[in-house]
Amino acid sequence: MPLLSPHRDPMGTAIRDFFTKGSAKPLRVLSTMFDTDVLPVSTLFRTVEEMNRMEQVALNRAEGRVLDVGAGAGCHTLPLQERGLHVTAIDISPLSVETMQQRGVIDARQEDFFTMQPDVTFDTILMLMNGTGIVGTLDNLPLLFDRLDVLLAPGGQLLVDSSDLRYVFEDEEGNFYPEDFDNYYGEVDYQMVYGKVRGERFNWLYVDFPRLQSCAEMKGYRAELLCKGDNFDYLACIKRK
Ligand code: SAH
Repeated sequence: MPLLSPHRDPMGTAIRDFFTKGSAKPLRVLSTMFDTDVLPVSTLFRTVEEMNRMEQVALNRAEGRVLDVGAGAGCHTLPLQERGLHVTAIDISPLSVETMQQRGVIDARQEDFFTMQPDVTFDTILMLMNGTGIVGTLDNLPLLFDRLDVLLAPGGQLLVDSSDLRYVFEDEEGNFYPEDFDNYYGEVDYQMVYGKVRGERFNWLYVDFPRLQSCAEMKGYRAELLCKGDNFDYLACIKRK
């Protein structure tokens, strides 16, 4: 997705409202594949104690020069910055970037991960809250590694979480038929709506660890599974071979 404009930025509007007014309207997540869901805006402001184990492990492992990709309200950036790390927080959402700056993020920029041309490389790249989502489709997964070629410092690491969505589609007996899907079953589409602000529809990729790992291998990287969550989700660490 390219950079958003403020009037097509539902999540950013919700983040700005929550920060400036202390509350927000329901942030609705529409999909052609699922029932409409509501994302509690407060979760985008979660503290380290409120984060899941995978996020806490990722924060503990972060070191050196850090890039937080799709940083949202800055919930991962801020505690790392407090620890003394230099964190660059990027997001395509202008209102999220503005709010991060107001919350004290020193280096927040409106950038698209797939086109940004930074002047430095990073020791740690964070992609959290289904970090593979922004890749959109399984076909595009190799592009993630093309970006790492450019953005990762020698010896650097990508810390990324995702999940195997098969549990969503299993029947009561635990049977699952991936062949029922036209595309890879982890490819979903979403559209966010906040009050009158309606975003563009976008693709969002959930990828199981074996597929992520084999793509990494193919592109000259090694993926290690660091920990598993409660919903078939996992945190992976990816480095150059
Ligand atoms: N990491 C945050 C926010 C996750 S929501 C958290 O854990 O709370 C995903 C974020 O990624 C959104 O803020 C969205 O605007 C941003 N995003 C989507 N595509 C992007 C891209 N190509 N480059 C940078 N940010 C992107």
